Amino acid sequence: MLEFDDAQTRLANGAPRPQAATETALRDAAGLVLARDLTATLDLPSADNSAMDGYALRYEDCREGVALPIDQIVYAGHAPQPLQPGHAARLFTGSLMPAGADTVIMQEDTREADGKLEIARAPRQGQHVRRRGEDTAAGSPLLAAGTRIGPAQIALLASQGIARVTVHPAVRVGILTTGDELVAPGEARAPHQIYNSNGAMMAALVEGMAAQATQILHAQDNEAALKSAFQALARDCDLILSIGGVSVGDKDLVKPVLESLGATLDLWRVRMKPGKPVAMAHVDGKPVVCLPGNPVSAFAVFTVLVSPLLRRMQGRRDLFPQVSMLTLRTDTPRHDSREEFLRVRREVDNGGVGQLQAFDRQSSGVLSSLPWATGLARIPAGQTVYDGEKVAYYDFKHWLS
Ligand code: AMP
Ligand code: MG
Repeated sequence: MLEFDDAQTRLANGAPRPQAATETALRDAAGLVLARDLTATLDLPSADNSAMDGYALRYEDCREGVALPIDQIVYAGHAPQPLQPGHAARLFTGSLMPAGADTVIMQEDTREADGKLEIARAPRQGQHVRRRGEDTAAGSPLLAAGTRIGPAQIALLASQGIARVTVHPAVRVGILTTGDELVAPGEARAPHQIYNSNGAMMAALVEGMAAQATQILHAQDNEAALKSAFQALARDCDLILSIGGVSVGDKDLVKPVLESLGATLDLWRVRMKPGKPVAMAHVDGKPVVCLPGNPVSAFAVFTVLVSPLLRRMQGRRDLFPQVSMLTLRTDTPRHDSREEFLRVRREVDNGGVGQLQAFDRQSSGVLSSLPWATGLARIPAGQTVYDGEKVAYYDFKHWLS
């Protein structure tokens, strides 16, 4: 048996980082990964401007009770005239500072009468001015290669006037479900059959990480069907995920079929629950990960073992999302000879402290635990963990993105 941490490291390194890069519109870049370091070319803000609705003036002209003639109104997006000494300019949030002005006094601290500004409360020199370059200075690093582009990155890139970015192309993932017992949702089901949960589930997991589920195939448990499915996926995809048929039963034919295609299986039987049978192989140079058929196991294995590999293939710098230590609430002490991943729900009490509630039925057959759970809690192999102890928490929000 392979220890969980070893399996995770080996899988994460099981495929090369991407070489290909392509240019895309910023609008289409969400979820993709920057292929190049980017440097700021603009100072932001690009000029000193007001952080408030109010008046710009020279600090030296301000004394309580003094009245300054207002020589201009500067709206955001308009170019100001230089400010005459002893005058004030009316302006608004985002208005550029007139040359000569160094201080903004906010509207609430003034009165305006007969075109003159009366100062009710003396300002501090330089107050309420956003300085040129104080956000981002031209020439400073903006975003590094390997950064996943999300709404925040898009805003930053747009602020620099960047309309197109160089990214790694989306990873194309082929999904293969296996089993004679399965029928697709929407089709007629005989009493001895079950619906296929894994095909749609895997596609959603893959797409939730902004990869493309380009093909979802299903093969009956026979060598010919499995073989042609693997060959089709190897032609078309960067990564193949097969689900089921990888154990030691009579109908578990994935391993011999992969071997017949010239693949060597790199790892086998991870000391992990749920999800013991996991294998990795390469067919025509394409990585293949074989996951257990049970949907709960497949979901857990994808979360903690496959997602780092996918991140690597996407070119992301951070392969392993954060794991936090949180208090476990469980009805019974937890103990197993394998590394156990419990389906838990993070709940926040009145003081705002997060705790993990374990689902009451942790059998890997209980699919209803998954929509309920917010993540997985890790119980180390061979240790007993009691109610109230702290455990490592893998939040789906982080691990599935
Ligand atoms: P296997 O790994 O093929 O032995 O499958 C383990 C268990 O998961 C069996 O009970 C299968 O019926 C079930 N299973 C396998 N694939 C699927 C699937 N795509 N959807 C739902 N259940 C599945
Ligand atoms: Mg099967």
